[in-house]
Amino acid sequence: SSRGYATACVAALEAARDLLHAEEPRLGDMDAVAGDGDHGRGMVRGANAAVAAAADAFAQGAGAGDVLAAAGDAWADRAGGTSGVLWGAGLRALGGSLGNSQAPGPAELSAAVTAFAGRITGLGKAELGDKTMVDALLPFAETLARRTEEGAGAGAAWQEAAAAATSAAAATATLRPLKGRARPLAEKSLGTADPGATSLAMIFTVLGEHLAR
Ligand code: ADP
Ligand code: MG
Ligand code: MG
Repeated sequence: SSRGYATACVAALEAARDLLHAEEPRLGDMDAVAGDGDHGRGMVRGANAAVAAAADAFAQGAGAGDVLAAAGDAWADRAGGTSGVLWGAGLRALGGSLGNSQAPGPAELSAAVTAFAGRITGLGKAELGDKTMVDALLPFAETLARRTEEGAGAGAAWQEAAAAATSAAAATATLRPLKGRARPLAEKSLGTADPGATSLAMIFTVLGEHLAR
């Protein structure tokens, strides 16, 4: 039902928040290598605000799409930083694509992830290989779309997409950053994975336990 899926969306955001609390120091350290060191803190701030806004919207009777839109607006408002703006806008697009009417099937779920990715590339203008979160996000969205077209169930397709995102995030260690704050410190960044790609792969992995079942 739509109400049931709204519950799953709140639970998904809570799981992301708990994960980010645990990973905050590591993400901060990664961002400190060539950035300003605030990625862990910013993601925690954004996720805290998103969970509060989602729970509030849910309590007022909102469906899944409106729960995610409220979460996205709060994330963008409170996180600060480049990644916060992009995550917030992405979540709003995810919610807009899912809508409030019913629990999505695999095709609707994949379309919503494509909308999330399209919003982030549209706003941030990063391309594959620029050493940003997009390097994990596009393999995720593409794997999810391909496996869904091939008839995989939502849970299985999501797991494969999460595995693709995780290895793509790790592989960013060999890249020089071409976007964002890390760009002037490109040489320092070599050997360390992009923090935004790393957090994205981790977050999408836990979201699947709630959104794709
Ligand atoms: P800030 O760089 O403003 O301090 P964060 O540290 O929270 O923000 O986020 C840094 C991450 O943002 C980078 O690791 C990268 O993944 C992502 N990022 C930076 N610029 C872009 C962009 N133009 N498009 C997509 N992602 C980006
Ligand atoms: Mg930073
Ligand atoms: Mg910053």
